[in-house]
Amino acid sequence: MATEQADLLRRRGIQVTAQRLAVFRAVAGQPHITADGVAEIVRGEIGAISLQSVYDALGLLVGEGLIRRIQPAGSPARYEDRVGDNHHHLICRICGRLVDIECAVGAAPCLTAVDDMGYEIDEAEVAYWGRCPDCLAQAQATTDSAPPAGRRRRPGRPASSTE
Ligand SMILES: [Zn+2]
Ligand SMILES: [Zn+2]
Repeated sequence: MATEQADLLRRRGIQVTAQRLAVFRAVAGQPHITADGVAEIVRGEIGAISLQSVYDALGLLVGEGLIRRIQPAGSPARYEDRVGDNHHHLICRICGRLVDIECAVGAAPCLTAVDDMGYEIDEAEVAYWGRCPDCLAQAQATTDSAPPAGRRRRPGRPASSTE
């Protein structure tokens, strides 16, 4: 029986309830899960829970630093229990798939701003946007089946270049 999450709650003096525990475990079991996803898992585990209760529990856990909330543009918020290591995310523009990516170099160099303006910085939120391998392969397959027209043009050179 996983009591790791219960211990984490107790250590912070948070009352351990079945709902909080189930929400925490759902996030731990499925990184980058949405609140809807959490609600679905929790309902399967302990029965009825309102979406508002799910949000309340998630908000509490985020506030205590036990889970992290990430909100990619154009996507619902996602939650993960991998906290405190300043990792970043790779997000696919096409299908929305989101994966972890280590901090660029070293322990947490992105936290060292050129000028911190006197702030005490504890998190750098970096999102790498692009296309995932699957979406890329699909796009390439589509391009291959429809070859571009024959007219070639040398890019990036002024028309009056001396040759
Ligand atoms: Zn994709
Ligand atoms: Zn992550």
